[in-house]
Amino acid sequence: MNKPFSSIDILGIPFANATRNQFLDQLQGRIEHHQNTFVVTANPEIVMYARKDPAYRKLILTADFISPDGIGIVKASQTLKTPLPERVTGYDIFTHLLNWANQNKKSVYFVGAKPQVIKQLKLKLAQDFPNLQLTGAHDGYFKSDTEIVNVIEKQQPDIVFVATGFPNQEKFIAHNRHLTKGLWMGVGGSFDVFVGAVKRAPKWWQVHHLEWFYRLITDPRRLKRQLIIPQFMWKIHQLKK
Ligand code: UDP
Repeated sequence: MNKPFSSIDILGIPFANATRNQFLDQLQGRIEHHQNTFVVTANPEIVMYARKDPAYRKLILTADFISPDGIGIVKASQTLKTPLPERVTGYDIFTHLLNWANQNKKSVYFVGAKPQVIKQLKLKLAQDFPNLQLTGAHDGYFKSDTEIVNVIEKQQPDIVFVATGFPNQEKFIAHNRHLTKGLWMGVGGSFDVFVGAVKRAPKWWQVHHLEWFYRLITDPRRLKRQLIIPQFMWKIHQLKK
């Protein structure tokens, strides 16, 4: 396939060398042309996970585009003297595509998050995005995915957002993406943030690139997961020319 962007390698993961707007334009164009697309938004945690799980790495390398989900990846690219233009976060792409889908009457399927969050998501979509065609929304705590997969295949949504957290969301997408001609993207905890079940850090923390630290101190369960970040930074430091 003809790749529109060059890629920048960070510890074996090729990131799309694109600005946020170039990235969004590309995705929207592909949706318009019914081109099947798999997007991964990868943070340092995902990069490190892929290093120790070759099967997961192989799977995310089948994505059409991998975007730098957060400042950690952008900083690493600068340290390695192959700078990426800016971060292109999952949540940002998610909300922009929702707006665009609403304006262009596109159809969307949502899977992931807790049942209560899905309930709120449906209400918010009906209120704020009345032109978006909701083809279905299912929570992410299912035993069998048969029902979900059948609806997606029947409804042929333009976009499928999967918010079950990594690595499961990427596995689900890689396994099922052939069912539609649309875009499939893993968006982690985005449904929670979107409905306000989880708050993003206040602006000050975001502006100072400390959102990760805010999340850490407000949700200490993340501590174990975030301990991987210094390891990521150390690996990058070792590669520094
Ligand atoms: N989740 C889910 N099914 C599961 C486990 C988790 O749908 O079996 C959801 C969870 O409710 C949350 C999201 O997956 O909405 C993962 O959020 P997290 O903040 O961990 O994502 P990340 O940090 O990877 O963006």
